[in-house]
This record gives sequence, structure tokens and C-alpha cells, in this order.
Amino acid sequence: MPEFDYDLFVIGAGSGGVRAARIAASHGARVAIAEEYRVGGTCVIRGCVPKKLLVYASRFTDEFEDAAGFGWTLEDPKFDWPSLIASKDKEIARLEAAYRATLSKFSVELFAERATLGGPNEIRLQKSGRTISAKTILVATGGHPNVDPKLPGIEHTITSNEAFHLKEMPRRIVVAGGGYIAVEFASIFNGLGADVTLIYRGGKILRGFDEDLRDALTAAMTKRGVRIVTSQVFTRIEKTGTGLIGHLTSGETLNADTIMFAIGRSPNTAGLGLEAADVKLDGEGAVVVDGNSQTTAPSVYAVGDVTNRVNLTPVAIREGHAFADTVFGNKPWSVDYSTIPTAVFSTPEIGTVGFSESEARTQFGEIDVYKVSFRPMKAILAGRDERMLMKLVVETATSRVAGVHVVGPDAAEIIQMAAVAIRMGAKKADFDQTIALHPSAAEELVTLREKWVAPGEAAG
Ligand code: FAD
Ligand code: NDP
Repeated sequence: MPEFDYDLFVIGAGSGGVRAARIAASHGARVAIAEEYRVGGTCVIRGCVPKKLLVYASRFTDEFEDAAGFGWTLEDPKFDWPSLIASKDKEIARLEAAYRATLSKFSVELFAERATLGGPNEIRLQKSGRTISAKTILVATGGHPNVDPKLPGIEHTITSNEAFHLKEMPRRIVVAGGGYIAVEFASIFNGLGADVTLIYRGGKILRGFDEDLRDALTAAMTKRGVRIVTSQVFTRIEKTGTGLIGHLTSGETLNADTIMFAIGRSPNTAGLGLEAADVKLDGEGAVVVDGNSQTTAPSVYAVGDVTNRVNLTPVAIREGHAFADTVFGNKPWSVDYSTIPTAVFSTPEIGTVGFSESEARTQFGEIDVYKVSFRPMKAILAGRDERMLMKLVVETATSRVAGVHVVGPDAAEIIQMAAVAIRMGAKKADFDQTIALHPSAAEELVTLREKWVAPGEAAG
């Protein structure tokens, strides 16, 4: 009779939890997983995947507009939000079923209910009231959207969770926040034809990204009709017979059908019983872990957003995989966080990997910057006055390319491949010696020859 019911019990069937469960099971562990909402987690159910589907939908507007320059005549295209949401829901249901099938194929037992910790080796299932023991517990409970609970009228607002299930497309939407989600949803609703205002508390959206990217995206979104209001927050939200009125610190009022908050996310650790296992949390409520995702309780590990390291799906997946290989596969390895590519699926899109210009200056002292802004080939016949930006940040002492930054069509696709080069330590000469692929936009990255000199600064 085994000492524990399971070798591994995973709490949360999202990106990190499912990967860890599957890999641990493939190493021969007896694994169970609990999920309180839908299998697949944030990314699949109400994050990356449905978001990207809405992004695709929003970009047809450009295609319809641009088509005329290539000889096409289109009748007035019509968009139907409920049809889009229905198609999206169908695809998400298909993916959820695929995730369930994977768990089942690897004999991972699924408990469709909330689980909490009762001790370092004890799990309590909330609905069935069962208590289960496991040699190792993995906390992979992800995070949830923040709202400002003290803001009068906050109950009239939505977060990204609800945005995916709106019955109707809002004609006027105000999005609060200046990070990934705010910028992506502002672009989505703008592309779909809504009147969009973005309210950001700071001076410039996308804090932490390269300044040129922030400036280029601000300009492009503004040109596309998104009103970006900076240095403002809401003081209250009022519901009227015809919609909502958002009151700003400046005294300005904004009329809207929907007000969406996208002001960051927090780890799902409340009420999880972590104290029963002596699992420590940091000041933001995230589970504290070491480089192997082990918590302060030796039998409890944590991966993904609940640890608030880098809150991206591929990172959660890597962490889950490394944990399972290390603990159950006798193949120890840990995640390298140094060159994580990331994209913001705004329109136009941002793709970035490595150091921003200012980070590189702080890190390396002397750097060289190469950048180009140009109208992509397709934009010319289309008559679209939008430029693409490409930028390389190079560490002068070693000539190593420390950062690659792109704003424009397919930026994410370009950066995924540039990330391979950056990870391998490619030098500027490697980019220069790579033969261009013509005609493409990405070829600009291997034909950048002139160092960028700030206006007013002498060359050389
Ligand atoms: P999750 O995927 O959140 O999974 C946690 C699971 O645990 C959930 O299913 C939850 O229901 C369950 N759970 C929580 N508590 C319990 C409990 N006590 N018992 C049982 N189950 C529980 N990342 C990208 O890389 N690219 C993107 O384009 C991108 N877009 C995003 C768009 C949006 C709108 C959002 C919100 C996020 C996006 N992300 C994106 C981030 C990405 O979704 C997360 O980083 C990723 O899902 C984290 O995976 P995880 O396994 O840590 O947690
Ligand atoms: P972000 O951390 O990206 O952005 C949060 C934004 O809200 C920031 O602009 C922040 O301002 C602002 N903010 C924070 N607190 C307040 C407040 N109290 N009042 C007003 N504004 C506030 O979080 P998101 O919610 O956009 O997304 C969560 C995470 O999910 C991302 O960080 C990312 O890791 C992941 N994600 C990834 C995506 C992708 O890969 N494409 C897409 C979507 C999400 P300030 O900058 O001044 O702090």
C-alpha cells in the first residue's frame, strides 16, 4: 500500500499545471489534478488564445480598407459580434476537450473542483469534501485581474474575463490601464469599429518597454482613432439610463457603454491553505520559490503566474516541465529567464526580445543603436500611412546584439526567430553577414548599417 494517494497532486489545470502533470505522469508518477473552472486555464479559456482570435477579427478592417489599392472592390462589409463570440467559444471548447484528452491519455486523474492545502502533503477538495494525500504538491493556480474595489461604481465595470463574453459589442468603450491587456483590447475594439478611450495613470503606455516602441505605438494607435488619456485615473463610475459615465481626476467625464479595467493581475493564493503547509508568500501575495520552483515547504512546489516571475504562458509551461523532469524524471534543469521574447498584440503589433535601449545603457554602459522606420511594401499600394519600426541594440564592447525591437505587421513572428539568434549570442556581424530575404520587412534587420545618432549629437 503506497504511503500517499498520489505521487503528485497539481492544483490548477492551466498552462503550467497541465504540462507538469503530463510530464510527471510520463515519468511514471501517479498524478492527479484539480481544476475549479475550465481545463486549459487562463491562456486557453480567457487569455492568449481567445484574445488572439479577437485580434484576428479586428484586423480584417485593415484588409478590407487596403484591398482597394490592389484592385478589389468590396461591398460594405458587416461585422457581427455574437457570431465572432460563438466561433471563438467553439474553438475554446475544442481546445479544452483536447487538454482533457491529454490528461486522460497520460492517466492523470482530474477532479473538477476547487482544491486547497490542508498541510504539506494534504489536499482538501472543496465540493466533494474529500481529503487526499500526495508526496508532492504543485501549486499552479495562476492569477486573477485586479480591480480597484474602493472605486465608487466599480461594480459597473468589467475585466478581460467578462470582455470575452459580452452579449453585444460596445459602441463606446473606455479601457483603464496601460499594460499588455489594456493596449491589446483597446486595439481590438478600435479595429472592430468601437469608439475607444484608454485611460492610463502614467505619462506613456507600456512602461518597461523600449521608449521607441512606446512612442511608435502611441502615435500609431492615436492615428487609428484610439484616444489615449495619460496621467489620469477614475474617481468614480456612474450608471445612467443610457450607459456609464466615468469621472476622471481631471474632472473630465467620459460616456461609455462599457468600462474595462486592465490594471494588472494578482496571484491566486487567497484561501488556498498555504499557511497550513508553511508556504511563504511575498508582499504581493505570490508564492516564494527557489530556482527549482520549490517553496519554503519542501514537499510543495509552485509554477506559473502564482509565483509572479514572468507571467507568460511559455514561461509557465517551461517551469512546469522543468519541475516535472527534475522531481520525477531524474533530469534536473531550471528555466533560463534571460532572453524571453514577448509580443503585444496591439495593432500595429509589438515584438521584442532582450534589452531595451535604456536597460542596455544601464547594463553595458556603451551601446550602439541601429534603427529604421519605413512604410512596409503592402502599405504603399494600400495607401496606408503607417510606418514599421525596427531597432537593434548592440553592446559596443562585444558587438553582441542585446536587444531586437519591432513595431508593425508580424512583429511577433519576426521576434520569435530573432530570439534564437539573441539566445545564441549573435553579434552585429552575424546579422550583417546573413543574406537578406527579399522582399520582406524582416530583411531590414540584416541590412542596418548606420549607427543611429541622436539629433544634435555629433557622429563618430
Ligand atoms: P493559469 O493558466 O491561470 O491556470 C491556473 C488554473 O488554476 C486556472 O484554470 C484556475 O481556474 C485554476 N485554479 C485556481 N485556483 C484553484 C484552486 N484552488 N483549485 C483548483 N483550481 C484552481 N501570455 C502569453 O504568453 N501570451 C499572450 O498573448 C497572453 N495573453 C493574455 C491575455 C489575457 C487577457 C490574459 C489574462 C493573460 C494573457 N497571457 C498571455 C498570460 C497567460 O495567460 C498566463 O501567463 C498563463 O495562463 C499562466 O499559466 P498558469 O499555469 O500559471 O495559470
Ligand atoms: P500589466 O502589468 O501589463 O499592466 C498593468 C497596467 O495597469 C500598467 O499600465 C499599470 O501602470 C496599470 N496599473 C496598475 N495598477 C493600477 C491602478 N491601481 N490604477 C490604475 N492603473 C494601474 O498587466 P495586464 O493586466 O495588462 O496583464 C497582466 C499580465 O498578463 C501581463 O503583465 C503579462 O505578463 C500577461 N499578458 C501577456 C500578454 C502577451 O504576452 N501578449 C497579453 C496579456 C497579458 P504602471 O505601468 O504605471 O504600473
